[in-house]
This record gives sequence, C-alpha cells and structure tokens, in this order.
Amino acid sequence: MSTQRRQPHVLIFPFMAQGHTLPLLDLSKALLRKNIRVTIITTPSNAKLIIQHLPNSPIIHVIEIPFPSNGYGLPKGCENTSQLPSMDLHFAFLNATKQLQKPFEDVLALMSASDAGIPLCVISDFFLGWTLESCQAFGVPRLVFHGMSVLAMAISKSLCQHLPHLKPSASQNPSSLDLPGMKIPFDLAISDVPEPIRNLDLNDPACQFLCELAEADVSSWGVVVNSFEELERSHISSFESFYHNGAKAWCVGPLFLCDDDKKPGDCEKLSDCNLAKHGTSAMQWLNEQVTLASVLYVSFGTQADVADTQLDEIAFALKESGVPFIWVVRSTTWCVPKDVEEGMKSGKGLIVREWVDQRQILGHKSIGGFLSHCGWNSVLESISVGVPILAWPMIAEQPLNAKLVVTGLGAGIGVCVPREEVCDGVRELMVGERGRRARERAQALGRQARRAVKEGGSSHETLNKLIDQLCGVSDVPLKLCLRAVRYEMESEHFSMHQT
Ligand code: UDP
Repeated sequence: MSTQRRQPHVLIFPFMAQGHTLPLLDLSKALLRKNIRVTIITTPSNAKLIIQHLPNSPIIHVIEIPFPSNGYGLPKGCENTSQLPSMDLHFAFLNATKQLQKPFEDVLALMSASDAGIPLCVISDFFLGWTLESCQAFGVPRLVFHGMSVLAMAISKSLCQHLPHLKPSASQNPSSLDLPGMKIPFDLAISDVPEPIRNLDLNDPACQFLCELAEADVSSWGVVVNSFEELERSHISSFESFYHNGAKAWCVGPLFLCDDDKKPGDCEKLSDCNLAKHGTSAMQWLNEQVTLASVLYVSFGTQADVADTQLDEIAFALKESGVPFIWVVRSTTWCVPKDVEEGMKSGKGLIVREWVDQRQILGHKSIGGFLSHCGWNSVLESISVGVPILAWPMIAEQPLNAKLVVTGLGAGIGVCVPREEVCDGVRELMVGERGRRARERAQALGRQARRAVKEGGSSHETLNKLIDQLCGVSDVPLKLCLRAVRYEMESEHFSMHQT
C-alpha cells in the first residue's frame, strides 16, 4: 500500500448570505494557492453562485445538499438570506438550516470512509453552530467564521456576559457602557448594541437559538477572522479570552486581497484600462467620469431593509449635494423621485438595480467615497483601497463597525437621515477637510492591509501557521485516492461538482 501523505484537505461550509459566503470563497482561493484541496458544501441554488466565483481547479469541489423544502414559512426557492422578503424571517431561515445536519454528516461519513479520509478541519459559519457536534463526532477540528471584526465580536461576547449587570460608565459620557477588561476606542452606547443582545430574553426561542450558537462558537477549535492584526491587534486577546480550550483567533484578512488576480497591487487604485474588459454599465459609467476620486459609491449591502421613504431622503440628499454618485438599490418597490431623475439625466448619477462587483467599483480611480451601511466586508473593501466611508449603520453589529471606522480608525464620517444631514455629510466627505483627513487615514490603512496579505505580512504568515498547526493535528499518512472520493460522493443525497 502506498504511504504517500494525503493532500491536505479543508471542508468549508459557508452560511447562505453573500456577506458570509464571499469571504470564505476568498479564503478557499487562498488555500488553493497553498495547494490545499478545498471542498465547499452548500445548497443547490447557492452552489450556482459559488461556482461562478471559483477558479477552474482539479483540487476544488462543491458539494450540494438539499435546502429543507418546507415547514418554515420561507418563500419557495429561498436558499439565501438575500432572497428573504424581510429580515423578520431570518430566524425561520436559521431554523431551517438546522436540517442540513444530517446530509452534512453523510458527507463527513463518506469522506471518513474513503481513502482520503476526513478533512484537516471544517470551517463553518457561526450560524451553523450544529456543525460543531458533527465535527466532534467525526474527530475533526471545527473553525468558526463570523464575518465580523474582532472588536465587534469581542464587544458582543462581553455584552452577552455583562449587559444585565452593567453600571453606567465612569467616563466623561455617562450614557456610555463600560465593558470589563476591554479598551473600546469609542463611547459605546446602548443604541449601538446589536438588537438580539440588547433585548436578551431567554424565554424567546430566537434568543435560545443564539445562545446555542454562542456555546458552539466558544467550544470550537479556533476562529478564522477576516481582519488583520495591524487593524485590530489590541482587541485580539480580549476576544480570545471568551473561548474555551485556548482557541485562537486567526486574522487572515482582508481575504479579498488574497485574490492575486484582483489585487490592487502597490498602487492605490486600479486604472480604468484594467477594468474596461469587464464592460458593465457601472464600469463604463465610471470610466466616463474624468475627475479622480469625485464619485460617491452608495450601497447598503444585501441584508438591511431600507424603507422607501428613507431611500427618498437619500435620493434628495444626493441630488442636493451636487456630488456625482453611483448607487446600488435593492428595493423592488422604490421609484426614483421625479426631481432626482431629472437631475440624473445630466449624467450626475447612476442608479443600478442589479448585482455589481462592489470591489471593482470601489477600486476604480473615480470613486472618492462610500456611503455605506458598514457591513464588515464593505468596510474592509473600502479602506483596503483607500476610500473613506460615510457611515450610516442599520442592523446587527453595523453601528459598532461605524464607530470603529469613524472614531476608532478616523477613516470616515458618521451620518444619519434626514436629507439635510446626509447632504452635508456627502459634501464634507467628498470635498471637506474632515473628508480629506479620513481619506488619508483610509489610504494609510489600505497600505497596511495590502502589506498584511503579502509574503511576510501578518495575515499571510498567520494563514501559513494555521495550516501548519492543522497539519500537525492530523498528520496521518494515507493513500492518496482523490478519484475514489469523487466517485463515492456521487450519491443520491448530494452531488459534487468540480469547478
Ligand atoms: N456586494 C457586491 N455587489 C452588490 C452587493 C454586495 O459585490 O451588488 C458584496 C460586497 O462587496 C460585500 C458583500 O456583498 O462583499 C456584502 O457584505 P457586507 O458585509 O458589506 O454587508 P451585508 O450584505 O452582509 O450586510
């Protein structure tokens, strides 16, 4: 029997939301470049999207398991949170994903029965907490992925522990919350606390579910973090202190910069000729903008429900500011107000209603600012290319990210509706003194981010160490037999694609 060492193999199970899936696809590509075999497990309609983002490679596979079909009140065919008609259905969606445990374990069982054996580790999303139990049953380490900043995760964990007993802060601002043992670079207000934590009610099934997820989280082998040490070094140890068994937080981001093909390289911005080949209407429009850093990019991510009345306010604010803008709108019910539409005819703005390549847009030399909801991916993508943020947070941990950007990092300006305030904020960010300072800070952070993922950089080295450590945990010589695995995976319960 051959005693060839088995090729290291990592199984990745992303949560079905764009902001959670995309960074794990970037991580998959980073692992591929280190000759690690990667299998991504997901449901059929997500698989279609995922395959589009992956390179052709004989060492990356996507396994489909069926999404639970009914009984959860979800719209037919909904397999991704971006397809939810309202975030009120988020808990129903989470509940449905629990049914994926059996097919997930079937996959692990087949892998462990094959000659290639079980993977080095499973990297699964925080929301798929039940994967821990499965991993433990198969003796495979689970690494958890949250898609959040270190600071937001540490604050959330600390709040869960301390919020019921917290006394008002002794600092200058009496309404801010003091969290024991944490140095928070801004005044933490109760309104910044993510909703489920603020209203923690242990009789509520959604809260109970979150508690289960949190318990699985802290019992995991480690945490993969889409951030970099230079950005969040001072919060890492307090975050790790919430984990059992000495689990480490592995900061390997910004993951999208690990994609060599798209990396902005040493220059701050991509030139339009690099982008022209993509030829989307958004990119064509941007290429027509002659003034450097003159356009505001506007997007509120894939999750937040923004009311049409609020979209009106934003539209009028953009028009009044006189700043050119490119705006991605998700609402299917909102119509552009007539006045604003008239103004856009002179080429001052573009509203896009389909999916855009946000990273490409942010990397365009015409973009000078980002009006953002401050989802963590958006924050990283913006500062990595030196674009300052006009922060308008909405849900989840976004208020924490916004304060980190504005106060902690100095790379943005905070804003909220009504329109007058947004209008002033847009002008200040794009042409004002505070905006100039925020741009300089974002550019400095962008340089650090790009250094972090290069050979010798902090994130690059951390990923190497993570792989070394995982290989050490399960360094068993086994016959290499990839074909056999592929054959066995063709079961009636799931199907496997090679990209
Ligand atoms: N995104 C994109 N095109 C779009 C909308 C979103 O590429 O039209 C990407 C964006 O670049 C980011 C992710 O989707 O990587 C959204 O994640 P984020 O954490 O910013 O916000 P969320 O959608 O999770 O609230």
